[in-house]
Amino acid sequence: MAKFKTLDDLGDITGKVALVRVDLNLPMKDGSATDVTRVEAVKPTILELCERGAKVLLLAHYGRPKGQRYSTMSTSFVQGDVEKVLGKEIMFIPEVMGPVVEQSIGILSDGDIGLLDNVRFWPGEEANDPDFAKGIATLGDFYVNDAFSAAHRAHATTEGLAHHLPAYAGRAMEAELKALDAALGSPEQPVAAVVGGAKVSTKLDVLENLVGRVQHLIIGGGMANTFLAARGVDVGKSLCEHDLTDTANRIMDRADHAGCTVHLPYDVVVAKEFAANPPSMRICNVHEVASDEMILDVGPQAVEALGDVLKTCRTLVWNGPLGAFETEPFDTATVALAKTAAALTQDGSLTSVAGGGDTVAALAHAGVKDDFTFVSTAGGAFLEWMEGKQLPGVAALSR
Ligand code: ADP
Ligand code: MG
Repeated sequence: MAKFKTLDDLGDITGKVALVRVDLNLPMKDGSATDVTRVEAVKPTILELCERGAKVLLLAHYGRPKGQRYSTMSTSFVQGDVEKVLGKEIMFIPEVMGPVVEQSIGILSDGDIGLLDNVRFWPGEEANDPDFAKGIATLGDFYVNDAFSAAHRAHATTEGLAHHLPAYAGRAMEAELKALDAALGSPEQPVAAVVGGAKVSTKLDVLENLVGRVQHLIIGGGMANTFLAARGVDVGKSLCEHDLTDTANRIMDRADHAGCTVHLPYDVVVAKEFAANPPSMRICNVHEVASDEMILDVGPQAVEALGDVLKTCRTLVWNGPLGAFETEPFDTATVALAKTAAALTQDGSLTSVAGGGDTVAALAHAGVKDDFTFVSTAGGAFLEWMEGKQLPGVAALSR
């Protein structure tokens, strides 16, 4: 893993000004947050810096104002929710640089927190304008990035600032990078990857990257249908990208050469209509799917076999549900395999890392979110990491 500095590398920071990039892009309804997971994630970093006597200035984006000031997208809207989670008052500062911020820093005592306005109000943020970054950098003594979820963007406060100030990973960033490294950077072998979800086309780069790095590639969800079709299976009315069967074959060939076993379901749950517990639902071999049926979940025999595969592995990385898990009982395979992975993790035989919007929801639905080694809520950044891409925000910390 590329080396990066953490809060442990900071010396005495009493009275120093910390510029801390966080993700406060909270889902809001009627003026308050419906989910404060993102604030909980950065709380340890913020409180540690406060306790060590720094003046903490929070940098965050909110919505997509595209370089213009919109009163409806001010970070002041999340101030109350952030204060509640931190259990501490915050001073809102309606700028990101200049005399107003300088005066506010003068008013803050050691251990106090200031929240700057939406960094995306200024075009220099998304353009990663060095002058904009420099302007912000003059306010602070050091920079902490605790927003892994924004690390796939090379913006002024996610990347640029690291070129102008001593840069450190916050505690959430540190935990995320360590977990991701344990899963794909330098994992204990053998490694299994579960890739599911709706479509192959959205995860081509993920599959291409994984075949060269893992011993077992478990393909489920709608994307398994495209792979089955590529192998000559008639998948009936299933969600399937027939135009991608060549691509699927190429991925399976590459896997072959790399010594990676591709696991496709051999029994499946099918139905004639997509609804909860449809009367037409049945379990069958993949070669017995009728032309008016669609595959909506991996079958029980295949799930059991996949559980056995996980038992032989030391590391698991998971993105994408195995079936249409939002509709009962097509959550069955996802829940069963998630429970097996969770139990193996709790036994200490498996390191399990998962991510992806629907994957996080599926693991929560299975009641095992806290039993995995690490579950990333980073969405886009997590997927780009699974694609093997360098994340600019992480690279800047690693210089
Ligand atoms: P993530 O958000 O974790 O990256 P995706 O968005 O790629 O996952 O995929 C999740 C979606 O895939 C879910 O809405 C699920 O219903 C759908 N899905 C999974 N299996 C099937 C299937 N066999 N047929 C149709 N949709 C499926
Ligand atoms: Mg999704």
